[in-house]
Amino acid sequence: FPAFDVNAVRRDFPILAERVHGKPLIWFDNAATTQKPQAVIDRLAQFYAHENSNIHRAAHELAARATDAYEGARSKVARFIGAASPDEVIFVRGATEAINLVAKTWGRQNIGEGDEIIVSLLEHHANIVPWQQLAAETGAKIRAIPVDDKGQLLLGEYQRLLNDRTKLVAVTQVSNALGTVTPVAEIVELAHRAGAKALVDGAQSVSHMRVNVQAIDADFFVFSGHKVFAPTGIGVVYGKRDILEATPPWQGGGNMIADVTFERTLYQGVPNKFEAGTGNIADAVGLGAAIDYVERVGIEAIARYEHDLLAYATQGLLTVPGLRLIGTADHKASVASFVLDGYRTEDVGRALNEEGIAVRSGHHCAQPILRRFGLEATVRPSLAFYNTCEEVDALIRVLHRLARGKGVVR
Ligand code: PMP
Repeated sequence: FPAFDVNAVRRDFPILAERVHGKPLIWFDNAATTQKPQAVIDRLAQFYAHENSNIHRAAHELAARATDAYEGARSKVARFIGAASPDEVIFVRGATEAINLVAKTWGRQNIGEGDEIIVSLLEHHANIVPWQQLAAETGAKIRAIPVDDKGQLLLGEYQRLLNDRTKLVAVTQVSNALGTVTPVAEIVELAHRAGAKALVDGAQSVSHMRVNVQAIDADFFVFSGHKVFAPTGIGVVYGKRDILEATPPWQGGGNMIADVTFERTLYQGVPNKFEAGTGNIADAVGLGAAIDYVERVGIEAIARYEHDLLAYATQGLLTVPGLRLIGTADHKASVASFVLDGYRTEDVGRALNEEGIAVRSGHHCAQPILRRFGLEATVRPSLAFYNTCEEVDALIRVLHRLARGKGVVR
């Protein structure tokens, strides 16, 4: 394992000291949400104790502090994902709202009858349903890039799907159900060559690898704060400035206007025209603190450590008789989905929970990709940089016990 002091980082996360059913908590549900370091918890308390105010409007000291904190967080996000400017960062509730925003603004403006939207079989429902809704509204069609038996996108098939009716390619950078890392830069380049725009769903990538939206050349990039050690209820739409400027606003109200009369309304520029009403100011500030924390630990060090930990976990899982790993891509992050002979996935989840081990079992809001493997559900441990080999060993021990037929099946 590379030089990485996992015990030191564990001390930064108070919840990791919790006990569940008398056992130390083992948090392997990081793809659903991540735990919060004390620095983020403290930053929220600091905001509410010393800076709380609405932003932009009022001219007093606390409004200035709150505005500085909120706009400071926007700049941190821009630096973190390699955006050219903080103006390209729009705060929303999460990845789901982010994709809906793009579908309901840029999508409605640019996608019409007979146009095509390409997604992939790996997508989370959040990157399927908003496009289906748009297609139903406009008469556009959805096409899906298939995967091979390892859960890797078939790029040749993708190229065959691209044509002059393709207006958008919307793909995930990391599959939340299988852990597959997709070649987004290549996917975006091919989309651009076909004259389409590209949206990258970074919900499962930003906490596990260095992301640079300009290197990817994504037109839109979205993620959720809560999956990168920040609070729930805050997320991001990145969009290239010229595209955002040409895109109409979504919700209307305060904050997003320059001037209102009953005859007409003039909107603010980007990003404000997309942030109607009072936003989630404190949690945006919390997201800024989470990014500071991740950069202090070092996202590259995190990626290296997690790569080795996932390889260790995969080796261990493959020693369990009757265990079938779903998703064996050459390039993966965080996730090890599996099914176990003789057990329903919820029974495995319950047996693990009794040992204090939190995993998700179910369809992971990604039914098309599980059905590609003939399944309705898997058990999904998902790792973060605060997880350890010892925790992986504990998981494998319980699974061996279940495989020997000593599981509690109710
Ligand atoms: N996309 C992917 C790949 C995800 O994993 C998730 C969350 N599981 C989402 C989108 C939606 O994120 P949220 O629920 O935070 O809006």
